[in-house]
Amino acid sequence: MPRTESPTHHQHMKLVILGRDGTINRYRDDHVKSPDELEPLPGALEAVARLNHHGWHTVLATNQPGIGRGLMDMGALNAVHLRLNELLQQAGGRIDAAFFCPHAPEDGCGCRKPLPGLIEEIGKRFDVEIHEVHLVGASLRDLQTAAAAGCQPHLLRGDRLASLPPGRADELLAEVPGARVHEDLAAFADWLIETERRQRAGRGEAVEPDSRPLPL
Ligand SMILES: [Zn+2]
Repeated sequence: MPRTESPTHHQHMKLVILGRDGTINRYRDDHVKSPDELEPLPGALEAVARLNHHGWHTVLATNQPGIGRGLMDMGALNAVHLRLNELLQQAGGRIDAAFFCPHAPEDGCGCRKPLPGLIEEIGKRFDVEIHEVHLVGASLRDLQTAAAAGCQPHLLRGDRLASLPPGRADELLAEVPGARVHEDLAAFADWLIETERRQRAGRGEAVEPDSRPLPL
C-alpha cells in the first residue's frame, strides 16, 4: 500500500499582532476619534494584505485611552475599525480581530500595554504558541509588551520613534533582547515572508515565488 509522507512538524496558526496608531495609520496625539481621522501610512494596508496572502492572520492590539478619558465612545472606536477593514478590503487584506484596552493609565487595568493582558487574551482566543507570535509596533511600549508576553518583538521606525531624544531609542532597544527594527510595515512584511520562505526551503519544502506584483 502506498504511503504518503506528511510533514512531521505541527503547524500552528500563523499570527501577527499589530499595534495600530503609528503602525498601520498615522499616530495622533489627540487620538483617532472618528473614521475621518484614520490616515493609513504609505504601504501599510498593502503590507497587511501581503501577509494575509502568505497565510498570516493579523489582529490588532491597541491602547485606546481616549475611551477611558471620555473623548470617544465604543461606537466611535467600532466605526474607526470598520473603516480600517473597509480600506484593507480594498487592498485585499483583513484584520481578524481588534483587541483594545479602553482604559486610561490611572485606571490600573491589566490590559494596557506594556502589560501583557491583551496579548495573553489573543493567545487564548486563537490558541497559538505565544513565543511563535510576532508583535509589531511603533512605540517602545510595544516592544516592552512583546517582552512581557514572550512573543517576537518588532519595532517600526516612524514618527513616534523619531520623536524620542537622540540615543534614547537605542537605549530602550537594548533592554529588549531579540528586538528587530524595520523601516515600516512593508519592510516587516518583506522580512517575515522572506524568513519563512528560507525556513521552508531549508526543510526541503516546495516554495512558491512571491506573489508581489512587479513594479510598473
Ligand atoms: Zn485596560
